[in-house]
Formats: sequence, C-alpha cells, structure tokens
Amino acid sequence: MLNFQYKFIIQGDEMEEIVQNRIYKIVISQVNTKEPTVNIYYLKKENILIDAGPDNKAYFTVIESELKKFGKTIDELNAVILTHHHTDHIGMLKYFPSKTRVVGDKDINKFISDSGKYQLLNYLKMSELVQTQYFFDIKDKMMLEYSSLDDKFEIEDYRNVHLNNINFIKLSGHSTTDVCIEVKDLNVLFTGDLLLQGVYFNSIVEFDCNTKGFNTTLSSEYEKTLDVIRKSDYSLYFPAHGDSITDIKKIIDINYKRLSKNKRKFLKIMDHPMSVVEVTDRLFSTFIRFSMFLPFSYTYQLLQSMLQEGEIVYENGFYRVNENV
Ligand SMILES: [Zn+2]
Repeated sequence: MLNFQYKFIIQGDEMEEIVQNRIYKIVISQVNTKEPTVNIYYLKKENILIDAGPDNKAYFTVIESELKKFGKTIDELNAVILTHHHTDHIGMLKYFPSKTRVVGDKDINKFISDSGKYQLLNYLKMSELVQTQYFFDIKDKMMLEYSSLDDKFEIEDYRNVHLNNINFIKLSGHSTTDVCIEVKDLNVLFTGDLLLQGVYFNSIVEFDCNTKGFNTTLSSEYEKTLDVIRKSDYSLYFPAHGDSITDIKKIIDINYKRLSKNKRKFLKIMDHPMSVVEVTDRLFSTFIRFSMFLPFSYTYQLLQSMLQEGEIVYENGFYRVNENV
C-alpha cells in the first residue's frame, strides 16, 4: 500500500517529503517575488531530479546539502529530467557539474544556444509586431526563455533514454519542449506547466527554429493534452508550480469551459478583420496592464486553433470570421 502524505508545503530551505520515502519537493521562490514559486522534485529511489528551477545559487546550495542527508552528492545524480525549457525550470542548471546527465526534449538544445536567440530576434524585427507599442514587452519576454548555458550541456533526447521505473509521456501545449514523466510503480505523473491550478493562460508563443516562424499548434495540442490527462488515472499529479493535484477533472473542466467561452467571444467581437494585437487588446485590456506577453500568446494560439478548425480565416495579417461556416 502506498502511503501518501499530504502536507501543507511552505517555501523553505529544505526538501519536503511528499510521497513517503520516495518523492521529495523543494519550493523555490523567484527573484521577482511576483512570479510564482517553482517546484523541483527529487525521486529518492531513482536518484533523479525533475527540473532544475530558476537561476538561484542559494537554492543550489540547499539542494546540495539536502542530497547529503540522503548520502548523495550532485555528482552522483542519475539524471536531471526537464519538463520543458523555460528559464524558471532550467536556470539553475548552470551551477550543476557539466558531466550531469540532463534529459528532456532535444529541442531544448535550441533554447540554450545563442544562435536560437539571434534567429528569434531577427524574426521579431521583421514581424508585424515591430510596429506595435507592445513590441519590446513581447520581445523581452520571449528572449528570457533562452538560457545561456555556454554549451555546458547537451540535452539527451528522452526518446532515446531508458531510466528504470520512469516513463516519458509526450504531451504538449504549453511550450515547444513539453514532456510528462511517470513513475511507474507509484502511478504518479509530473506534468510540468501543462496542468496547473488557477492558471488562465497556458499556451505560450515561441519561435520554432524548424519552420522559422511562431509555433502555431500549441493551443490545439493543449486541448488534446487536456483530453488525455482527463482520461488518465494517476494517484497524484505533480505540477511544476503549486501544490499537488488529485482532482484533475475539476481543473480541466474549468480550462475547457474557458477555452470554448473565449472562442465564442473572439467570434463575437470580430466585426471587421483584426490583427492578433487588436484582438488581444479588445479581450484582455486588464491583463495587458501587467504584461502583453501572456494574453498575446494565449490569443495568438487560440486564433491558430480556430484557423485550423476553419472558424476564421487569415489574410495579410488580419483575422476574420469565416462566413462560409
Ligand atoms: Zn513554463
């Protein structure tokens, strides 16, 4: 019988045991305290870390001393598995020894290289966004997701990696590099940023080095992911931010409702051909006061999904309702 301990977990300087003698969690606060705290998990039996957290040397020291309690050192870790490439989940990697085995989607390598950054910058300068007042906000937020790790690591593609008791499950919709991790004998799933409590915007706009444009499929992938997770039957779900989740159906249904409500709203306000910036502006003016990036991402990805479903059409930078439907 598994003995799950439910504890109220405060952010602190030690690892909290969340599945008895098996899974430990450390909650890390970001430098900008308005940003959400980030979880790193330690699988004791497998001797694996899930995610590496934001760039914060102090927390790296904490992880080192916490591992010591289990008689382990950072050098002895079997692997660090990354749920996706965003800086708040991989920034701390730069303090890890370069021989650390780092596993994740191979495309993460593009986000830790400077060449990826220059490709994105060139693309943005040519995009229609450059003419808008939001250009710098969007550009800065997008550039932030490129971590400079100075070729210290080559991320091993999870598709070619075998780790005892671990299953990699390709689910996507938050970023270009999402993967979920299952611990087989515990029947639990690490969901990265794909399943979080109380999150409004999930699909991010990212540059796709392969198509040399924005990734356009995230929102439709996210909808499929919600379907798959809703039908799944894990004992617990461990997100990369916030508390563990048991009642996934409730969270997913809220997300579904929001997606379809927003699609209907989009169709309603599009009384003339609109750019993605104009649609975002109309729908999310209150959010935009804080930052344009997330509402823009969400709107862009949702429009792409509606485009694929044929509900709207796109011409010369403008979206309009498809009257033929
Ligand atoms: Zn993320």
